[in-house]
This record gives sequence, C-alpha cells and structure tokens, in this order.
Amino acid sequence: MEIRPFEKKIWLSSPTMHGDEIKYVQEAYDTNWMSTVGANINEAEKLICEKVGCKEAVALSSGTAALHLAIKLAGERLYGQPKVGHGTLEGKKVFCSDLTFDATVNPIAYEGGEAVFIDTEEDTWNMDPESLERAFETYPDVKLVVVAHLYGTPGKIDGIQRICRAHNALIVEDAAESFGATYKGKQTGLFGDYSILSFNGNKIITGSAGGAFLTNSTEDAHKVRKWSTQAREDAPWYQHEELGYNYRMSNVIAGIVRGQIPYLEEHIAQKKEIFMRYKEGLKGLPVRMNPYDKKNSEPNFWLSCMIIDEDVMCRQVRGEKEVLYNPEPGKTCPTEILSAIAENNAEGRPIWKPMHMQPIYRSNAFITKYGNGRARSNAYIEEEGFKDVGADIFNRGLCLPSDNKMTKEQQDMIIEIIRRCFD
Ligand SMILES: *Cc1c(COP(=O)(O)O)cnc(C)c1O
Repeated sequence: MEIRPFEKKIWLSSPTMHGDEIKYVQEAYDTNWMSTVGANINEAEKLICEKVGCKEAVALSSGTAALHLAIKLAGERLYGQPKVGHGTLEGKKVFCSDLTFDATVNPIAYEGGEAVFIDTEEDTWNMDPESLERAFETYPDVKLVVVAHLYGTPGKIDGIQRICRAHNALIVEDAAESFGATYKGKQTGLFGDYSILSFNGNKIITGSAGGAFLTNSTEDAHKVRKWSTQAREDAPWYQHEELGYNYRMSNVIAGIVRGQIPYLEEHIAQKKEIFMRYKEGLKGLPVRMNPYDKKNSEPNFWLSCMIIDEDVMCRQVRGEKEVLYNPEPGKTCPTEILSAIAENNAEGRPIWKPMHMQPIYRSNAFITKYGNGRARSNAYIEEEGFKDVGADIFNRGLCLPSDNKMTKEQQDMIIEIIRRCFD
C-alpha cells in the first residue's frame, strides 16, 4: 500500500451534524427564545432523561459546570452550607479517578477540597475498586468519590458503589465520555448520587458545548437549576440567599443537543465499527485495544485506543513538555506512532496524563494497591512489587483517530501507518 498524507485531515473525533440541529436552532431564532429559557432546553432535558433513565436532567453550559455543581451539592449535603467565599469541601479529602481529563478533578479544588487520586485497573482503564478500598483504610473519613468512565468504557462501577455504600460515601459520576454506554444493562449516568454528561465538540454527540447534571432527586435538580441561573429567590426583585453561577445552557445550544440525541445510537454503532476494524486490522501486532468488560458492559466506543506490549517499546522519555524517543528496528512507542499519524494529516492523541503526575496535583496523595501491602502516596517509589498502572498506560498507550466520518479506506491507511512503525 502506498502511503500518502490525507488530503482532508482525519480528526480524533469531530462533530457530526445531521440537519435536525439547525431546524431547532432556527426555531429558537424565529421565536426569539435566544436566551437560557425555551422549548429546546425543555426538550433536551426530557430526551436526556428518557435516554439515561434518570428522573431529572439539568442542561448546563458545560460538563465542567455540571461537575462543579454536582460536587458542590455533594459537599453541601455532607458538610453543610459554608460561609460565602468558602468552598463546601474546605479541608476535606475527596477520592478521585487518576487517569482522566483534568475537568473531572478541578471542581474538587474549586470547592476547596483536596483530591486523593486512586490508581487505575488494567481491565477497563478506570478507577480500581481494590485501590479505592485501600484508600478508605488510609483515609476512613472521606465521604465523597468522583469517578469517571474513560473513553466511553464503563468502569467496575458496582464494586465502587458497594465500597462507597459500606463507607457512607457519596458518588459523583463523570459520564462525560460515556453517554450511551451501559454496565449490566444500566446506562452510565445512573450510578452516581449525582452524575454528569458533556456535549463538548469532540464528545460522542455535541451541542458545540454544553453539559447536563443528572439525578433522581427533584429537589436537587431544582437546586442546581437555581444555582445555575444566579441563585435567584422567588421574590419580586433579585433576592439572593445562596451563591449563584451563570451555568445554564442556552436555548440555541440546546437546539443542537436536541437535534443530536436521536443520533446517539447511530454514532455509537459507527464508533464500535471503527473500534472493531482497528482490532481486526492490528491483529498480529504486539498491541492490544483499550480493554472492556465484555460480559458486563457495552461501551460507547467514543475513542479507540491501543497499548503497546512492554517488550517492543523503544526508549521514550517524557519530560514536562518535551518528549524524546529512540527509534529501534522492530520496536516503537506512542510518540513515534503519533508522529507518523500526524505526518499523514491525521490526529491521534496521547492517553490522558495521570493526575498524580501533573505538576498542579503532584503533592496530592496517590493510592494504589500495589507495593508491600500498604497504600502508596508516592508514584515514584522503586519498591518490590510496586506498580503504577496509570503511568504505565500513559507511557505505552495512545488514542487513535476515531472520527465517525472516517471511511474504511482511510482507516485501512491509518492501520498500515501504524504497522510500519513496528518494522
Ligand atoms: C470532556 C470531559 C469533561 C468536561 O466536559 P466539558 O463539557 O468540556 O466541560 C469532564 N470530564 C471528562 C472525563 C471529559 O472527557
């Protein structure tokens, strides 16, 4: 096969519009509901509830805003309403996924809390229940766990739920990447006391931006809706008893979300096909696709990822902002493959750099079950049996171009580009 750079760039995951979106946006325009009230918002919230199976959805400006209000609400329920200017989690530790986007974690800090990162398991690349159990042994007072489903693959969420129940801890579930994925037949977004979705431009469906807060509590949904619109009291003037935010989704954005939701299943089917084609096409290479629990879960296959076997990794050294690698025959590394993909006008991406390795969070505790039977709070300890699963996946893994508009022929070309890196 002759390799030539793609004429039109192949994206990691770009928006896919279908035509209904613009009709709802036009409707908002024609009826002049151009603000944060209107039929599109109501309909989008209804469609989200129907899809996920939750009682309440509150449409917000982003997934990050939804996480902030979910975490704040959990904090207030656990520790009460703080004085104005103080977070609900001040001085409190919160357990959190480690291998994830920083938007999962930052809202803990917005509320003054301190994230304690829980190591990742190898079966789904999500929070490891055993490491979580360890973390409760070390920090028995923790009452909140923030857990994400990476790349659209559900984590071992019933184990995590069981542990949290035993320790009376609340769960905030970050389903930003996993809309439509199921675990034991249940949609992700149903496993948290509070859960969130994102409609960011590269997610499986998009509003161009936007997010949703999900819960089964009507009272809590009402509270989040109120907080998101500057926390106005029911009074003839602007009356305020609580801190407010400007986090509500616009009716224009909601028109796009409303138009996209009916295509979620179609997008999932396309993403699954892409995943399966990579799996087939990369057969025989010393690599593995991002794993999932085939018995209990059905991912939404948002991003196809792969991980390179340890013994065929060439030397790759990542500093804070640069990377070097040493090409070797028969060996490769994510950097080499990502460069080859980029040179041919396609977009891959490194795996999320684990939060415990990020300069901003480097002094936070990190807990893994590996080591000498005790929880570890330092990822760099060289010790018999010590392992840092997240760092290892970051080192050897990468996200492949997963755009659902990529043709089979284009994907075959990408597979060939990857194959040649192993020559
Ligand atoms: C995208 C994403 C978010 C944030 O969503 P936004 O809508 O972009 O604010 C949060 N968590 C995870 C895991 C994400 O991938």
